[in-house]
Amino acid sequence: MPADKNATFDVLVVGSGASGGWAAMRLAKAGLKVAIVEAGRPQSDNNFTEHKPAFELKYRNMAEGILRKTRPIQSKFDVCNEYTQDWFINDFDEPYTTPADKPFNWMGRLRMTGGRTNVWGRVSLRFSDADFQAASLDGYGEDWPLSYSDIAPYYDLVEKYVGVTGMTEGLEHLPDGQFQPPMPLTCQESFFRDGVKKKLGRTVTLARSANLTRPINGRGPCHYCGPCERGCMTHSYFNSAFTTVPDALNTGKCTLISNAMVHKVLMDPTTNRARGLLYVDRLTRKTHELFSRVVILCAQSQESVRILLNSATREYPNGLANSSGVLGHYLTAHVRSGGGTGEFPAMGGKHRLGTAVKPVGIYVARFRNLKGQPPHKKFLRGFGYEGESNIDFNWRAPGFGAAYKNAVLEPRTSLNVTGFGEVLPRWDNFVELDPQVKDVFGIPVLKIHMSDGENERAMIQDMGDSAGEMLEAAGAKNIRTHANPSAPRWALHEAGIARMGIDPKKSVLNQFQQSHDVKNLFVMDASGFTSNPCQNPTLTIMALCVRSCDHLMSELKRSQL
Ligand SMILES: Cc1cc2nc3c(=O)[nH]c(=O)nc-3n(C[C@H](O)[C@H](O)[C@H](O)COP(=O)(O)OP(=O)(O)OC[C@H]3O[C@@H](n4cnc5c(N)ncnc54)[C@H](O)[C@@H]3O)c2cc1C
Ligand code: SF4
Repeated sequence: MPADKNATFDVLVVGSGASGGWAAMRLAKAGLKVAIVEAGRPQSDNNFTEHKPAFELKYRNMAEGILRKTRPIQSKFDVCNEYTQDWFINDFDEPYTTPADKPFNWMGRLRMTGGRTNVWGRVSLRFSDADFQAASLDGYGEDWPLSYSDIAPYYDLVEKYVGVTGMTEGLEHLPDGQFQPPMPLTCQESFFRDGVKKKLGRTVTLARSANLTRPINGRGPCHYCGPCERGCMTHSYFNSAFTTVPDALNTGKCTLISNAMVHKVLMDPTTNRARGLLYVDRLTRKTHELFSRVVILCAQSQESVRILLNSATREYPNGLANSSGVLGHYLTAHVRSGGGTGEFPAMGGKHRLGTAVKPVGIYVARFRNLKGQPPHKKFLRGFGYEGESNIDFNWRAPGFGAAYKNAVLEPRTSLNVTGFGEVLPRWDNFVELDPQVKDVFGIPVLKIHMSDGENERAMIQDMGDSAGEMLEAAGAKNIRTHANPSAPRWALHEAGIARMGIDPKKSVLNQFQQSHDVKNLFVMDASGFTSNPCQNPTLTIMALCVRSCDHLMSELKRSQL
């Protein structure tokens, strides 16, 4: 549907990524007139390059120096590469700042329909009451204003639509879901799983992942080509750009407004209601206004909170919907600078160029500070690991001539695990507007203050030590571990800066991600997370978003919005 920029809508949804796609689809399918207001360009199958070899690229995907000229931060993570670079912001056009002693790498800033789901790692894990009620269990922070039973039906609904391959394990703290048949583990992954369970009682499972093993809604099963982060012409992983967003548009009730960089929420001070949005057209640099009954921000945590801070009014001088003063505070993002690698027997496996590549690895479920266990002496909460095994040529083989050629072909098989740890929500990890700096569209940018505390540092150390212990338990050779508690902070799983809570004095949103202060304003990305458990966040972002949309619709029916 062409952009109908002058119309008034029932609902304006800012952002078309994991949360925005779901919000638009849920509400448009229910008959509401929705516009998705998206800063990025439209995405298309024509942009997907998962089958394109590097030798067809101008710089063979090897010119990191050229990438760094425009995207020095985005390209720190290898999903921003010569294939995909123009899906990402230019770091100089859209900067952010940090204090000199607190470097923070804000990566994964995409400007395409689908947002981060274009390039995400797809690991899709449920939270449990060990997470939602963690504060009651260990006394730190606040409980979430909802429990697992509130969200479980929404996890079911989202998993069935998304398509998650996984193995059931019966763990209370990592609940099973509505899985598609699991992709197989490699021999080395099975070895690791069995050894770790037998010797340490810990669970290693397939990384539950949004990759199809069975067709759904015209999307084909994965054919194991490998680089999902470059797109997928058979739509075999979950990306909003080819799932929720087109399904929303196909209702005929939804309009996608692309290249629309939202600056602020427009307020009616007499009624204390949001009345629409002001945005800058990224192509013409002209400003436009849009009007609606309800506004939902789904722009990714920092971006949504930036919009709220930029929407300050006389009534809300410290940022819209911020009567609590909490907006921007309690920034959390996983720590992941501990892990390990070890070598396993190849068991008949050989490295081949152009062979099938399983796009899904393994996940080690959290095993620290669970109910019924003695608490860890040095830190609260816990961490899981993501990992994978690889078979490679023996590049370091000694010798020369025929003997060397044969030795290079001897397979080298390694398995690595990297910890993903919960960061405690702390007031002094926060974002604010930088009064000195604007982006190229004239919109004030964020200053991000983030550093690790004692809890995170102790956890990172344990990530390294425990990785070594598990690799040893599974019989790996040449084990190497790492734990770098002082690595600069970086993040792809940020959350918590417009937290949900029961008490409007201590939180920004209620359990339905609805502003306590402005009833027709919602923030449905991870900003509302009251804490940031070690499991990857996106499945929970999507499930919460659908639950909140259902609440929104019931409020509309009761004429409460
Ligand atoms: C490399 C990578 C790997 C990841 N791996 C995993 C994983 O394995 N598992 C997992 O759970 N999560 C993973 N994540 C995180 C996951 O992608 C995010 O949690 C999820 O996409 C967030 O959804 P969202 O809707 O909040 O934001 P996004 O999906 O990023 O969508 C936000 C959208 O809002 C738009 N936008 C931003 N600002 C504005 C504005 N001012 N006006 C208009 N539009 C705006 C953006 O252009 C974007 O399209 C990964 C992320 C990255 C980058
Ligand atoms: S590995 Fe599977 S999901 Fe990923 S791009 Fe290839 S076919 Fe698509």
